[in-house]
Amino acid sequence: MSSAVCRLAPSPTGAQHLGNARTFLIAYWSARSQNARLMLRIEDIDSPRIKPWATAQAITDLNWLGMDWDGDPIIQTERSTLYDQARNQLMEAGRVYPCTCTRRDIEAAASAPHESTASGWTPDAPVYPGTCAGWKNGDPLPEDKPFCFRFRMHAKPDRFFDRVHGEVTCDPIRDIGDFPITRKAETAADCLAAYQLAVVIDDIDAGVTEVVRGDDLILSTFRQLQLYEALGHSPPSHAHVPLVTGTDGRRLAKRHGDTRLSHFREQGMTPETIVRWAAKTSGLCPDSDDSLKDMTLDQIHQKLIGQFDWVHIRRQPTVVDDFGSAID
Ligand code: GLU
Repeated sequence: MSSAVCRLAPSPTGAQHLGNARTFLIAYWSARSQNARLMLRIEDIDSPRIKPWATAQAITDLNWLGMDWDGDPIIQTERSTLYDQARNQLMEAGRVYPCTCTRRDIEAAASAPHESTASGWTPDAPVYPGTCAGWKNGDPLPEDKPFCFRFRMHAKPDRFFDRVHGEVTCDPIRDIGDFPITRKAETAADCLAAYQLAVVIDDIDAGVTEVVRGDDLILSTFRQLQLYEALGHSPPSHAHVPLVTGTDGRRLAKRHGDTRLSHFREQGMTPETIVRWAAKTSGLCPDSDDSLKDMTLDQIHQKLIGQFDWVHIRRQPTVVDDFGSAID
C-alpha cells in the first residue's frame, strides 16, 4: 500500500442513487489505482435528515457494485469529542463566533448574491451579512436565543487546483462569507458539529490525501481550505466530479423517476451494467469500447483501475432522460 489515503463518504439521508454510485466508483478507481488506503466514512451527523435504514443500504449498494474498503467504517456521530476540540481551538484563535441569526434574518439582510464566481460557479448560499460577527472570544455567549458557531472567512485562499476542473477561483468574502460549523442549540455543549467542520476533522485525522466528491460541493472546498489553514494542516488534493442530472439540468431527485440503486437491484439489473454505464459516461472508457461487455465485475474494475487517469474525466454533467433505458 502507498501512503495515499482516500475515502468513500456516503450520507445516509436517503437511498444512494445512480449519481452517487458514479461518484463513488470514480473515487474507488482513483484510490485503487494509487494503491491507496481507502476508508469508508458514514456522514450521519445531519439529523433529522438521516434515515435509520440508509447506512446499511449504502453499504449493500457499494458492495453490490463491487467496491471494498480498508478497515471498519468511520461513523461521524461517534466522533463529537474530536469535533468539539477543534471548535474550541478555532474559538481560541478568534476564528469562530456564536450567531443567533435565523435563515430568514440572513436572507433578509444579505445583499443579492452575485450570479457567479470568477470561475463561473453559482454561489450556493446567501452571504452572511456579519450581524453577529462583532463577538470576541471571552464575551458572554447568547442566553436568550439558540445559536450556532460561525467561522470567519478570510480573503485567502481564493484559488485551488481541482483534478477535474483545473484552477478554480472565487472571492471568499464576496461569494461565500462566514459559515456555520455547528448546528444551532441553546448551549455551546449542545451545538453539534456540522458538515464543514466534521469532514475536515475526519480527513485530517485519517491523513486523507485525495478528496473525490460531486462538483455541487466545489465552493465548499473554499470553506474547508480555510478550516485546514486555521487548524494548521495542509489540505488534501481535490477532484470534484460532475453530477448526473435530469433533462431539466437539476441533479437527480425523485422527480426524475426511481434512480435508487436498490430499485435497479430489485428490478434484476446487474451491477456490471451500472459500472459500465459509469465508466462510459464519466469519460473513462470510450463509448465505442465494447470490451467491458464480456467481462466479470471484477475484471471491469481491474481494467478501469489499470487505465485510470483524471485527464479522461469529463467536466460536463451527464444528462439522462430515461435512466432505466439509458443504462441498458
Ligand atoms: N457525504 C457527501 C455526499 O454524499 C460527501 C461529502 C464530502 O465528500 O466531503 O455527497
